[in-house]
Amino acid sequence: MDEFRLIDTLIAPRAGTRADVLLGIGDDAALVQPPAGEALVLALDTLVEGVHFLCDIRPETLGYRLAAVNLSDLAAMGARPLWATLGLTLPVADADWVASFMCGLASAFAPWGVALVGGDTTRGPLTLSLQLTGAVPAGVALTRHGARPGDQIFVSGTIGDAAAGLALAQAGTRCHAHEAFLVNRFERPEPRLALGLALRGVASACIDISDGLLADLGHILDRSRCAARLELAALPLSTALTALVSRETALDHALGGGDDYELCFTLPAESLGLLQTLRDAGHVVTRIGEIVAGEGLELRDADGKSITPGARGFRHF
Ligand code: ADP
Ligand code: MG
Repeated sequence: MDEFRLIDTLIAPRAGTRADVLLGIGDDAALVQPPAGEALVLALDTLVEGVHFLCDIRPETLGYRLAAVNLSDLAAMGARPLWATLGLTLPVADADWVASFMCGLASAFAPWGVALVGGDTTRGPLTLSLQLTGAVPAGVALTRHGARPGDQIFVSGTIGDAAAGLALAQAGTRCHAHEAFLVNRFERPEPRLALGLALRGVASACIDISDGLLADLGHILDRSRCAARLELAALPLSTALTALVSRETALDHALGGGDDYELCFTLPAESLGLLQTLRDAGHVVTRIGEIVAGEGLELRDADGKSITPGARGFRHF
């Protein structure tokens, strides 16, 4: 199948539409109408075979994950997603593979009405790039640099699941319900876009947890020039995780394991009233510590003893 037929028959029909797309796939470039008065938010993610995934991953899972991790970056900015462009580098033009990949990508985009407006298709080692554009009124965007001493630190959902899920997926075990839950948490992370929108203008800092809580909270601390005290006993761990691994391993996953794509955010004291509103709206958020003055990250166990963190999250270089 040639490149143009592939685009016309497998990609364009799954691209989705929006009123603000003036010209989508098919011309030299796309034309879109930015929402009045809002800043555009741009994020790019690349997945490379052998680095981010292995060849046995289902293409549908890959398409979903590529979109979900990119949507998660927009969630962490408090943005709503609008348009995407896709860079596909494929060793061969395998129609079944592309159809399944597009099915996964479209299933992540559909709930948010994101339209795929263009891209590029080339031959080479399997590499997938997705560029997303979203929008947020500039004054209320969530950033990494606004945390201040006295702010409380929160995470959404449960953490550590995806790291355990990846280990299970690699071992090929997912028979038990708990195992299936954890593998699914790795393969189909849920971008916390609705929470990001609810935190607009309220959270003092926000990041999505892609490389592990310690590493990602560390980015907030670096950018905000402050320190944090975390309470290990407060970390939200799923029933599946605590049922399948020791408490020590669960904490290792929760602190150092990546791929959860939950949000970690800080709230100043005067905004803590928002918590009830968030919980009433169905968001699961847990207080895990506090921002303090100084440098670094202190971990406290249940009896208040300080523990030195070992894991620092995944780094490419
Ligand atoms: P050009 O040669 O001008 O770069 P292409 O032939 O690469 O154009 O692409 C033709 C059209 O198909 C363009 O609108 C482009 O955005 C779109 N397109 C190409 N590859 C993809 C892809 N992987 N996903 C979405 N749209 C694509
Ligand atoms: Mg052209």
